[in-house]
Amino acid sequence: MEMRVVVSPSGGLGGFPDSSYIIDFMKNIYIVILSLLGSLGISLFFYLDDFSLSNSSRPDWRYKDKEISSRLLAIPILLYHNINGRGPFSIDDAVLREQFQLIKEKGMRVVSLHELIGRLEHPKPYREKGVIITFDDGYYSTYSLLVPLAREFRYPVTQFIYCDAVSQRSSRSMTWARLRIMERMGIDVQAHSISHADLTELSRKNDPISRKKLFEEIYLSKRIIELYLGKKVDFFAFPYGRYDLYLVKLASDAGYKRVFSTDYGSNIITRDNFCLRRNHIKSSYSLHYIENLIK
Ligand SMILES: [Zn+2]
Repeated sequence: MEMRVVVSPSGGLGGFPDSSYIIDFMKNIYIVILSLLGSLGISLFFYLDDFSLSNSSRPDWRYKDKEISSRLLAIPILLYHNINGRGPFSIDDAVLREQFQLIKEKGMRVVSLHELIGRLEHPKPYREKGVIITFDDGYYSTYSLLVPLAREFRYPVTQFIYCDAVSQRSSRSMTWARLRIMERMGIDVQAHSISHADLTELSRKNDPISRKKLFEEIYLSKRIIELYLGKKVDFFAFPYGRYDLYLVKLASDAGYKRVFSTDYGSNIITRDNFCLRRNHIKSSYSLHYIENLIK
């Protein structure tokens, strides 16, 4: 009698399940179980992550949502220079008083630069109308006239100075001693270069002498003011408001937290804004014009 051997498709003997077939089957089951466990793990991760967001990090997101809706609320930064009423950018002290009074009557809050930057870095919506007041250069009038006025209105004001404007000799010029008094009286002194050169010209030349000068104008001015006033300098205002991307990068590398131009316009509240615009106030502006500017 002839014995027939039936070969199964899997190569095993007919009638008995082949052991390699069982192994393949078990492998498939194993992969399915692993996949299910994996999906479950990923779902759990997202669930827990979402849960942790709702407990700890969630407020940031809530604020962020509000921040997006509050981006239409702009903060105007005003820029003044001298206070003697002579020239297109020098305001008479009586006119400056009227403008300060207007800000008060409109119920606007004068915000310090540090507070603004704090709000930019840790988003929190503004519920009140804010305005920022800055002065450039370091004229003597900011010591003799601005200090008492800012104190009377309790306005935090920032004064950007360039180091060459600070003289130790003249009785009617800015000195480090006067700047220290201004600091004590609530005026925040920040950097505006060494010589008030047009930095974009130096940036364009890009030779070793110009690069060294740029280092002094941006980096050294910060260090000198920090040394004389015993404080940290965080802000830099470009002379004549002129800048380019290279200068912005240099200022960032020097450790400034924000830089300021004289580009007109308001600043929308966003953390990405490193170079902020300012509205240069001319002596020819009417009070009505200022009112429109800050509203
Ligand atoms: Zn200037």
